[in-house]
Amino acid sequence: MSQGPSKIVCVGRSYADHAKELGNAVPDQPVLFIKPPSSLISLSQAISWNPAWGNCHHECELSLRIDRPLKGETDPVKAIEAIGAVTLGLDLTLRDLQDALKNKGQPWERAKAFDGSCVLADWVDVSEVSDWNNIHYSLEVNDVVRQKGDTALLIFEIGALLAEISQVFSLDVGDVVMTGTPAGVAALNAGDQLKMTLKGQTQDFVWHTSVQA
Ligand code: ZN
Repeated sequence: MSQGPSKIVCVGRSYADHAKELGNAVPDQPVLFIKPPSSLISLSQAISWNPAWGNCHHECELSLRIDRPLKGETDPVKAIEAIGAVTLGLDLTLRDLQDALKNKGQPWERAKAFDGSCVLADWVDVSEVSDWNNIHYSLEVNDVVRQKGDTALLIFEIGALLAEISQVFSLDVGDVVMTGTPAGVAALNAGDQLKMTLKGQTQDFVWHTSVQA
């Protein structure tokens, strides 16, 4: 599947502990936003942003690749069947700027959809997932664990989440869904070394990247 995404659909506040750390209420329906294809870079490229825009937070997220079109699906089980691969991604967020935009009631895109704001690792075949409600992953920065993800703690289970997304946005083949970040988001610094680990059924998948000075 070499087709790139037409869009990356992202979920905000999908873990209660993260909503709480930013002082946000736990939502009663998924908070959705979109990153354009131009935001996408591979994890093999170093992370960078314009420092004039303020600090940049890491948000490590389980990410899903859609291999079958999904539109208006109401059955969570059928929605899950559209997923062809999973990986970890970074939803890079210019937090100072996002806070300023939120205060002004403006959209988030400047803070979350800029070039290079969607960092994806290599795709892992969906056969590595044995239980969608029991996927574990982590992000280490400079050898310290900063974020731990466990899909059992998602406010909206993945199937229900995908079904809900498909009511709003037609998901095309190659589209990506970032399922939201657990607690532990923090600012990145030049030279930081990042390591992301996804526990698969047969092995752990480990990826490295760094922040450009
Ligand atoms: Zn996020």
